[in-house]
Amino acid sequence: MPPQHLRLLVADRCNLDCAYCHFQASKAGRDLMSPAVARDAIRAFAAAAAARGHARADLSLYGGEPLLNLPAVEAALDEADSLRAGGFDFFAILNTNGTLITTELAARLARAGVDVHVSLDGPDEQANARRVNYVGRPSWPAVTAGLTRAREAGCAVQINSILTAQTAEDLRALIDFVADLGCRQIFMALPDGMIDVSGADARARLLLAARAYARGRGLVFNGPWGIGLRRESRAPLEWPPLNVIVRPAGAAFLPYVPQHAFPSARRRARSRGSRRPSPSSRWSEPRSTCAYARFRRTTSPSATR
Ligand code: SF4
Repeated sequence: MPPQHLRLLVADRCNLDCAYCHFQASKAGRDLMSPAVARDAIRAFAAAAAARGHARADLSLYGGEPLLNLPAVEAALDEADSLRAGGFDFFAILNTNGTLITTELAARLARAGVDVHVSLDGPDEQANARRVNYVGRPSWPAVTAGLTRAREAGCAVQINSILTAQTAEDLRALIDFVADLGCRQIFMALPDGMIDVSGADARARLLLAARAYARGRGLVFNGPWGIGLRRESRAPLEWPPLNVIVRPAGAAFLPYVPQHAFPSARRRARSRGSRRPSPSSRWSEPRSTCAYARFRRTTSPSATR
């Protein structure tokens, strides 16, 4: 069965200003998750999963850029640790742009057994030219430095990328770059998901060839299209039965339990005198996730051609 999955949007802001990100005005003024909300969410999720008979779950620390909120990241890792000691195992994943990974932080992430997932558009500065900071400087030097620190500290590192006309041109170069860094896996998302089947045959051939090449370099190469391959092999197709996203202020997107907010978030809202979020705002899709931003951008007709 696929793992249960809790995703905490710990920072609704980012230190980069990628050209395709719809989350442009992200420098300041947006919410950071409090450590109390992070702890509440993890405890509540573990209790719900345990009640369904599960003893482990994935925990994604997400943004924006989650490393802009180290107190919440630390609180989440500590809470996961204490639940682990009580018998519920969280597998922690950090979804980051990689620019803020210091040597000390890399060591902390390695000690906590965190999988580090870094978004990249390709294997060099030119391929990542649209991933820039707020004064237009390339993020590439900081990303590669952060990636290297994470690897040297012993973190398992996965690269997240999207199959666009640009990345498709030289998947082998990306695979070689990632393999040379000693990373474990490339997750290659599709710009049009599983819905648009135009060009599907050519894309499938490309992905399967890339997967075979990656395997030769000791890398796992997969993506949402792997589900289609599982279907071919007649393995049962299942989705995580408990898949929860929690916004910075504590409102949760829960497929099975609508309109939930964790107690610390409700206390904070009351102390601010703010009104409860409307049901529709609680149920709208999260806007600040990096992969989601790039997905939106790359689904434009000009980008997928
Ligand atoms: S695409 Fe991701 S890394 Fe780039 S600005 Fe948006 S949230 Fe930040």
